[in-house]
Amino acid sequence: MSAASKANAGKGKRFVERVYRLRIAGLGLGFFCVASVFAQQERGFLLWGLLVFHGFLWPHVARRAALACHVPYRGERVNLMIDAACGGFWVVAMRFNVLPCVLILVMLSMDNIAAGGLRLFARGVLAHLVGFVVGLLTLGFAFEPFSSLPTVLACLPFLVVYPLALGWATYRISQQLAEQTRTLERLSRTDGLTGLLNRRSWESVLAAEFALCRERRYASSLLLVDLDHFKRVNDTHGHPAGDAVLQAFAGMLREHFRETDPIGRYGGEEFGVVLPGATLTEARAAAEQLVATVRIQAAQDGAACPCTISVGVAQCGPDMRDHIAWLQKADASLYGAKLGGRDRVVVGEVIEQA
Ligand code: GH3
Ligand code: MG
Ligand code: MG
Repeated sequence: MSAASKANAGKGKRFVERVYRLRIAGLGLGFFCVASVFAQQERGFLLWGLLVFHGFLWPHVARRAALACHVPYRGERVNLMIDAACGGFWVVAMRFNVLPCVLILVMLSMDNIAAGGLRLFARGVLAHLVGFVVGLLTLGFAFEPFSSLPTVLACLPFLVVYPLALGWATYRISQQLAEQTRTLERLSRTDGLTGLLNRRSWESVLAAEFALCRERRYASSLLLVDLDHFKRVNDTHGHPAGDAVLQAFAGMLREHFRETDPIGRYGGEEFGVVLPGATLTEARAAAEQLVATVRIQAAQDGAACPCTISVGVAQCGPDMRDHIAWLQKADASLYGAKLGGRDRVVVGEVIEQA
């Protein structure tokens, strides 16, 4: 089996289910249009049998057949072509009775356009022609285009209900699509392991905050946090245990800061926190508190996060060209904290003893 074939396997199951429901409604209601004409033309047993099969049994057969296909989506497209061919056949069988013929061909074409655009529509027209020819060869040509009042009445439910059902189905799909787009957007902003912002989106928040505090001239601070000797956790307990520590630490960060303080995973075991509106003194206090909390829990037996942390703090300043300069200043502070012996906060580049 080729890679493309493997990738497509099972594709389109939801499409099959959606068409199944619409087909039950469409063919069920379409049955009465054709039946009203047949009743007036006193057609034979075989045509009636075929009509009952197509109106009420075929939707179930079609669904099963499509789902049994390697690629259900393709199976369903074949079913749609069978529907289109049957439409052509019914036109001949109804002897071109104008209202039900137009109605059935239009509804089938609408289905094909909704399912596969102009390409499927064009194929559907070809399939109509095939059904048409089969009808002419098996039933012969007869032309009785006049639609009686009973036929008009029998067509009304199809005319009214089916477009509403299709409109509703289309609306549902657009709702699902909007929901999926929102989910994808959220996922594209999120770090998969910790659920925090990922580096790219956190940096864009930082850039926006930088622009804002430059424009409005207020203080904002930034923390870069790095787990101390984290590699040892991986080396001693394995990578999955390291992952669990990162998740536990992300939880501690969330608990420690306000919801309005954007937290991101900046690197492997390095995190960034923006404190909008915080002066250097306030940011340092928050960082000191965090370092102390992490230190206390790290000392406990079976700590979820057995590492202490080092934190670099920097305030957004008028001397900075962009948010990268702000980050670099916090990074230099973090480097200072590591050099100073870890488990501490450094503000600017001045080493503060813990
Ligand atoms: P330091 O105190 O100087 O920061 O030492 P460290 O061991 O924390 O830092 P180092 O940069 O030497 O090692 C970081 C390690 O983090 C190395 C890398 O394998 C690990 N790491 C990075 N991302 C992940 C991750 O997603 N999961 C796990 N389990 N480990 C990771
Ligand atoms: Mg580290
Ligand atoms: Mg690091």
